[in-house]
Amino acid sequence: MTDDARPGVRGEESPADSMLTGDTYLASLDDGREVWYDGERVGNVTKHPAFANAARTVARLYDALHAPESAETLTTVDRFGNRTHRFFAPSYSSDDLRASRGAIALWQRMTYGWMGRTPDYKAAFMAQLAEGHTFYGDYGGNALEWYGRSASQVLFMNHVLIDPPIDRSRPRIEVRDVFVSVDREDDNGIYVSGAKMVATGSALTHATFVAVNSGVAARMEPGRDDDMALVFITEMDAPGLKLICRPSYEAAARHPFEAPLASRFDENDAVIVFDSTFVPWENVLAYRDVETTRGFYASSGFFNRYNLQAATRLSVKLEFAAGLLLRGTEAAGTAEFRAVQAAIGEIIAMRELVWALTTAMVADPEPSIGGTVVPRLQVAATSRLHSTNMWDQVRALFESYLAGAPIYTVSSPNDLKNDELRPTIDRYFRGTGLEAEERIKLFKLIWDALYSEFAGRHALYERNFAGNQDQQRLDVLRWAETRGDADRFRRLVDDCMADYDLDGWVTR
Ligand SMILES: Cc1cc2nc3c(=O)[nH]c(=O)nc-3n(C[C@H](O)[C@H](O)[C@H](O)COP(=O)(O)OP(=O)(O)OC[C@H]3O[C@@H](n4cnc5c(N)ncnc54)[C@H](O)[C@@H]3O)c2cc1C
Repeated sequence: MTDDARPGVRGEESPADSMLTGDTYLASLDDGREVWYDGERVGNVTKHPAFANAARTVARLYDALHAPESAETLTTVDRFGNRTHRFFAPSYSSDDLRASRGAIALWQRMTYGWMGRTPDYKAAFMAQLAEGHTFYGDYGGNALEWYGRSASQVLFMNHVLIDPPIDRSRPRIEVRDVFVSVDREDDNGIYVSGAKMVATGSALTHATFVAVNSGVAARMEPGRDDDMALVFITEMDAPGLKLICRPSYEAAARHPFEAPLASRFDENDAVIVFDSTFVPWENVLAYRDVETTRGFYASSGFFNRYNLQAATRLSVKLEFAAGLLLRGTEAAGTAEFRAVQAAIGEIIAMRELVWALTTAMVADPEPSIGGTVVPRLQVAATSRLHSTNMWDQVRALFESYLAGAPIYTVSSPNDLKNDELRPTIDRYFRGTGLEAEERIKLFKLIWDALYSEFAGRHALYERNFAGNQDQQRLDVLRWAETRGDADRFRRLVDDCMADYDLDGWVTR
């Protein structure tokens, strides 16, 4: 991205609508970024078989911002004069949050809930930079500037919070050959080195946000960890920034009929390596500052808000899962059986529960920085914990109640196109009320969603994207302590025990 492509912020002249379109988004990715795939440096990611279809999917989201039928639901004009996606703007009321949820849900329905890191995910953080810029002290001006860039263009940011799974037992600073730390600074900025896991969707984004997660931040100590107490943003074409990608399920997908989800919704998870990468001062939000680095996760409102995006996304995915199990069991002729119906009911109830959590998040928010409101911390933390454990249950229900049906299939669309084989397939592969071709098509979709390598990655994502499972529980406890809930729970027990003593009831 070039600087002149980025309109300014409050007080500056800003075109009413600078939001990227599908075409300008795709063009913006051809910037010389260093993406490594299959032993080669990728040129233009939008033309590469590992990324092209996913890029096209994201481009469709950008086009929807401008389409008459979706623009109203998706966009608003923020208080700074930028037309933007609703979740990219700060929320000042429950109504704002509710409208943001509508925008998140609309984009998610376009991917059937199968892309976790659509651009609105990181908007959970970027939107808070507007009113919350003072949180970043001397770097507050940078925060405000980045808000303007992000909101006016609806920039696609990825983020990396996690150190690689190396030497977890040692203090971070002792692993500075791998974990991100500052090498040096000069008048223009800082130089950082190290690796971060994993930047989902990063090859298709404009910039990466770098910080540390809540567990690590809590263990940081001023003085000892200053070189690693950093929060910054780096454009994807920054010299010395490398993306080392995992295998692409999109590239492996031979045909949409075979892999209808993997072939267009695969968000590649890349390891980001900073090799003495230059970060100009205007991209720095915290520098050698343990307190701000610790505080950003909860204090910025990011945590509260990303869980609204994530739960809304999961609700759509659960709707899709319910639809798949309905269709799959109907095709297998098992849909009328009592236990099968109970399983479908269970998935629908999961969807309703997650949606209800989003409703709690929008209807009962708490005040946050600069007059904004965000979902209540305790509800966001609860949503995070339960949501990340739901997909395992969905998978178990499919395995028990669709059982072997998804494996009763053919090797590829070519089998169906073979005139000699086709009559045999038509006879033996039909479903209840479905021709063989439709039944195979349905079960290949189910396979891609629940059993393929793409599906395996999704299961891993659901469980871990929001932090490790222990940390999710520990955060619930920590925040119950800091917000006084735990003391309230203790007092309830104390009150109960005060009702009686060795002589019997104290109170009547
Ligand atoms: C598909 C996928 C996509 C992802 N995308 C992103 C992304 O875009 N951005 C991003 O930042 N991250 C991303 N992640 C990383 C994700 O956030 C982490 O995997 C997650 O936080 C879990 O951390 P971990 O894997 O490092 O596990 P660990 O932190 O190593 O935890 C594993 C287990 O080890 C134990 N353990 C670890 N540390 C300690 C300790 N100090 N004390 C005691 N016990 C400990 C705990 O029992 C814990 O459950 C992604 C992960 C996946 C799988």
